[in-house]
Amino acid sequence: MALEDTRIWVRFQTREQVSGDSINVYAIKCCKCEKWRIILTKEEFEIIRVNFSVEPWFCSKKPDCSCEHPEDIHYDTSRIWVIDRPSIPKPPPETERLLIMRSDLSKMDAYYVMPNGKRARGKRDVDRFLKENPEYSATLPASSFNFSTPKIVKETILESAKWAIAKAEREGR
Ligand SMILES: [Zn+2]
Repeated sequence: MALEDTRIWVRFQTREQVSGDSINVYAIKCCKCEKWRIILTKEEFEIIRVNFSVEPWFCSKKPDCSCEHPEDIHYDTSRIWVIDRPSIPKPPPETERLLIMRSDLSKMDAYYVMPNGKRARGKRDVDRFLKENPEYSATLPASSFNFSTPKIVKETILESAKWAIAKAEREGR
């Protein structure tokens, strides 16, 4: 399946990094009307993402929404967009999955904040954590961690920089 077929996209602005996660808006495209819908929380998005390749998503799955409603956000190049990978398991309990953009915008990195507050940067860190904390081996199986990162839509990086410059000029900065 081509990545684009998943129609899960994530929009973010690097300047608004607050929680350490570069993503600030989660969006998904309806498989029927092809309008973009904002998914309000990361948790909700992570649940949709697990099932997306086998369970198409429609506007009617969002509360008080249907294909008749105007689009939530418009896909344009004023923001940087990244396409998330499908079928990433929901992060196990007591962990948080972070996606962080490198400052040169070349790549994103996936991290898990582990129950001890430390960040796991790859399978090796997860294995070490489980070895040191065997009580978590049942709830945090190594298979529930996935470090694949979204594909950056390169054109939106270039175009969003132009937008930012134009906006600054309009505002007389
Ligand atoms: Zn729809």
